[in-house]
Amino acid sequence: MNAPFAAAEAALPPADAQPLVEAPRPEAGDSRFSNTFLRLKKKLERGVGKAIADFNMIGEGDTVMVCVSGGKDSYTLLSCLLALRERAPVNFRIVAMNLDQKQPGFPADVLPAYFESIGVEYRIVTEDTYSIVKDKIPEGKTTCSLCSRLRRGIIYRVAREIGATRIALGHHRDDMLETLFLNMFFGGKIKAMPPKLVSDNGEHVVIRPLAYCTEAEIARFARTMAFPIIPCNLCGSQENAQRKHIKTMLQGWAREHPGRIESIATALSQVVPSHLADASLFDFKGLTRDTAVAEGDIAFDRPELPSGTTTIRIVSDLTDED
Ligand code: SF4
Repeated sequence: MNAPFAAAEAALPPADAQPLVEAPRPEAGDSRFSNTFLRLKKKLERGVGKAIADFNMIGEGDTVMVCVSGGKDSYTLLSCLLALRERAPVNFRIVAMNLDQKQPGFPADVLPAYFESIGVEYRIVTEDTYSIVKDKIPEGKTTCSLCSRLRRGIIYRVAREIGATRIALGHHRDDMLETLFLNMFFGGKIKAMPPKLVSDNGEHVVIRPLAYCTEAEIARFARTMAFPIIPCNLCGSQENAQRKHIKTMLQGWAREHPGRIESIATALSQVVPSHLADASLFDFKGLTRDTAVAEGDIAFDRPELPSGTTTIRIVSDLTDED
């Protein structure tokens, strides 16, 4: 566990730690914000702090480039990181970055004005990937894969230019779960979206500090914060139909079976390779009577269902009352 972040709630910042910016900070006693909202804010920040600690996402001296698209998720990510930096007993730099892909109707003045208003260091990059994608992909075909590849290349280049040691993305828990099911249903793999990864060339560390935060909570937070949201469909591309289908399935489960989504999210961090069937993760061929197997022999038992205490470990760590 990353002790500095785990202790961030209680720790006083060191005397010489001056935040680089003064972001607006809704606090108790501020009549514009209800107690319910302040609890939600605290819960999100604790979720981000826990993810940073669990996966050792940010350390002393890091430069974190936060990719801000203008959607609710990336605004929330930036807000939480700015708030946490003020309390964290490690110093790190935050640079907000937006890539203007020259999509029709993109309001280019919105994000610079927002970044100025909160005083965060920022970088706006303008690259007309929209025209490239339109030029290369035939009408009616999906444009997202080329668009994402181009965007990734630009993000990595900018990270290098500003000396970023971390690239922070606004994907949240529900994005991760949707990806898990997409990969299982259509890719034949148990594979989700990792909270932390290294780029293929080994140059960049990408982090997802919202890994424990739910989309519904982020949406509520963003509404009250009245972030200047930029619509996400300016390119004219439709949301992936299969992802939409899986989102609807997960939302249905959340309504009809409370706790199920939290259980699946917890399962991502409690994998038992000896009880799957991937011989590259567990040496089934070399298995002998002397091999110790995690979770023991259940060959003749009914699967044991958890009572609920482990299932909601992460959730209970982050309850509203905390
Ligand atoms: S939705 Fe539009 S902007 Fe987003 S990846 Fe697809 S083509 Fe690119």
